[in-house]
Amino acid sequence: MTDETKTPDKFTIINELARRRGFFWQSYEIYGGASGFVTYGSLGARLKQNIEKKLRELFVNKLGILEIDSPIIAPSKVFEASGHVDHFKELMVECLKCKRQFRADNLLREFAKIGESEAEKLSLKEVKEAIEKHEIRCPECGGTFGEPKYFLIMFKTTIGPYSDAVGYGRPEAAQGIFVEFRHLYEMAREKLPFGVIQIGHALRNEISPRQGLIRWREFTIADLEFFFDPEEPNCYLLKDFENETLPLVLAENKLRGSEEIVKVTVKEALTKGYIKAEWQAVFMALAKKLLVDFGVPAEKQRFIEKLPWEKAHYAVQSFDQEICVERWGWFEVSGHAYRTDYDLKRHMQFSGVDMRVFKEYEKPVERKRTVVKPLMAKLGPVFKEDAANVAEMLSEADPEEVEASIKKNGYYMLGKCKVLPEYIEIACQKVKERGRKFVPHVVEPSFGSDRLVYVTLEYAYRVKDGRAILSFPRDVAPIQVGVYPLVSKNGLPERTLQIHKTLLDEGFMAEYDEAGSIGRRYARADEIGVPLGITVDYDTLKDNTVTVRDRDSWKQVRSRVEELPQLLRKYFRWKADFEDLGKPFKG
Ligand code: AMP
Repeated sequence: MTDETKTPDKFTIINELARRRGFFWQSYEIYGGASGFVTYGSLGARLKQNIEKKLRELFVNKLGILEIDSPIIAPSKVFEASGHVDHFKELMVECLKCKRQFRADNLLREFAKIGESEAEKLSLKEVKEAIEKHEIRCPECGGTFGEPKYFLIMFKTTIGPYSDAVGYGRPEAAQGIFVEFRHLYEMAREKLPFGVIQIGHALRNEISPRQGLIRWREFTIADLEFFFDPEEPNCYLLKDFENETLPLVLAENKLRGSEEIVKVTVKEALTKGYIKAEWQAVFMALAKKLLVDFGVPAEKQRFIEKLPWEKAHYAVQSFDQEICVERWGWFEVSGHAYRTDYDLKRHMQFSGVDMRVFKEYEKPVERKRTVVKPLMAKLGPVFKEDAANVAEMLSEADPEEVEASIKKNGYYMLGKCKVLPEYIEIACQKVKERGRKFVPHVVEPSFGSDRLVYVTLEYAYRVKDGRAILSFPRDVAPIQVGVYPLVSKNGLPERTLQIHKTLLDEGFMAEYDEAGSIGRRYARADEIGVPLGITVDYDTLKDNTVTVRDRDSWKQVRSRVEELPQLLRKYFRWKADFEDLGKPFKG
């Protein structure tokens, strides 16, 4: 078969449909397009909003997770503290002839059959050797490559006209949450556990974003940071989810070269130690259910554990939720990381602001403890008006950490303050403790909205009698009802427009269409996934009934106009089936 006669795959079909019907397209087309950027049209924007609405309904409304909306640009300090400036890099190579740049791991995978995971492990020198050994040449022009180098994936800018005020575009929404932890803890009434979600744009200057919806330079991320006491890690939702099945690909099996899916319940995953944190296991079960709600069956999902060298720098354990899609096979839609106290601790070190929380014991306890004793006589002249503050923070610092730093560097950094050994004494003393101070631990589910849009589209797509239908789950469909006059004469359009207006007033996303034959209008609506079609005919003028047509079965029922708002409300909340909307009708 030649390329022209091959049936296009779903990715191609969906991209074509998305462009033609205005779901999304590549941005800046009039200037030749810029890869890695996408613009959503009205249908796509609404589909994405509906998907995000489902995330909010679950996490914010039902689970009481707080929501914030913070800036996209942050001063460099934020990402120095978070570790992104040091770690958020990819290995790349540049063609000496055409100057095009490529991700080294992609080249090694494609031309040397070195797996993605193996490639991530290689050093600069090893990448260079592998490229030479396999005689890899530029796929665009056949040129040879220069020295491999690391490329920082964050977009760098300046804040204002000051060249030393460096800022970065956020590559994740999570840091906006961590830096506001003190405010958020107060909003959560100073009680653990609690969670905070942020859904917003993220920027990653990806090296070669050539995979359509897969890897964009600007995309929408939904980061949920859930804070809990590591000494009380129990999840109060576990009882509701312990019997849910999780399809896991474990790191230990991956190390043996197997991607076998182990199906275990949430409870088993925890007792067998496959998942370290209860909250993480429960969020994974919730993520699986969400994807089922978006139309992806459970058997098309898996959670693959990351190997030590694949994990982000902040995670002790990490799983990617992957969906089976036609073009790429397994495709990541969300990440689930146990970030421990890494981020809050780093922001505490870099900002000097205490990120610990205080938990009171039922009764005070007396303990012998090694403590850091600040010596005011020394601190006073050095830190002046800040001395009392520094003394308080020092007395709460971890003595082991202070000792280790002094041993290694000759000083201890408390935020921006350099503490010399002669400013303190490390002593053992009896102390009465009212409670304990600690940095909370965090588990993070992180969803990519745009990838959710793609899988929802791919799983909604079907062909019936040679016609394309997007069978979206009814609560994510961008348009809920189409409203049509059977013919556009004899008073039918006027009556239809009244019904259309009533539905809009009742809060439904309804669209009026009178162009072309009724069959053509149904077909157009099916192709953009409108779940119900309401048709006004001559009987409507006599008895105030309309036909309601189901997008998927093409069945019709006859319903009373005045009952429609209430019936439709139930239907879109999954509290009624199509058959409940009226009496069977053969058109
Ligand atoms: P990560 O922080 O890399 O685990 O990313 C979290 C989620 O964001 C992933 O599971 C993806 O769904 C999404 N994501 C990450 N990078 C991109 C990108 N370049 N384009 C679109 N979505 C992305």
